[in-house]
Amino acid sequence: MQCNLCGSEEFTDMNSRKNVKCTGCGSLERTRLLWMYLQNLPLKKDAKVLHIAPEKGIYIAFSKRIENGNYIAADLDPKRYLFADSCVHIDLCNLDDWPSCEYDLILHSHVLEHTPCNIAYTLFHLHRMLKEDGRHICIIPFMAGKYDECFQDLSGEERQKRFGQYDHVRKFGKKDIPSHLGSIINMPSVFDATQDFDAHVLQEANIPENHWTGFHMGTVLNFSKNDLRLKN
Ligand SMILES: [Zn+2]
Repeated sequence: MQCNLCGSEEFTDMNSRKNVKCTGCGSLERTRLLWMYLQNLPLKKDAKVLHIAPEKGIYIAFSKRIENGNYIAADLDPKRYLFADSCVHIDLCNLDDWPSCEYDLILHSHVLEHTPCNIAYTLFHLHRMLKEDGRHICIIPFMAGKYDECFQDLSGEERQKRFGQYDHVRKFGKKDIPSHLGSIINMPSVFDATQDFDAHVLQEANIPENHWTGFHMGTVLNFSKNDLRLKN
């Protein structure tokens, strides 16, 4: 098994998940799965890419693929990303001033469970920012049960219990996808990575079978601009 981002063959544990974190670039199984989808994406060299909360392995790999200046790393707290040449500030709850029809790709993973505002606001603006043929590719973690969210001053313990982590403001539930996220954006009815990649390719990149199908922590979502159901 080899990391498809950095080539390392060594992996370590991530919490209770055995042998899934690359010791070379820090990628997790979901990051390597996301990269497989990104590698399949036809992107011109001068494509403009907005990568929110960039993963180190993907940042380094994408920096070689996209022309300098067109690959934009962004986060609410840019100084957390010292591996990046530059990282600009973005607040997913204040996107009104970001340009429309600007990006060929907007990319993020495990971000939307942290944003303390209306999820429809954020999704509306991210899709407004996409070019007509742009893609929005992301991983939204899905957990058991129904959607839940709270913007009150909950304790870290309470957030852990309700949303799976001390700093999450919401939980995306598997049980009510059509009536929640699905009412904002066209959600796929199934996720099956084996439709897109051979099992041995997934295994070689050390992506365990529990990440291959269904809605889970690493489901890769691939939206077109028009998949947003909220229209002007
Ligand atoms: Zn790696």
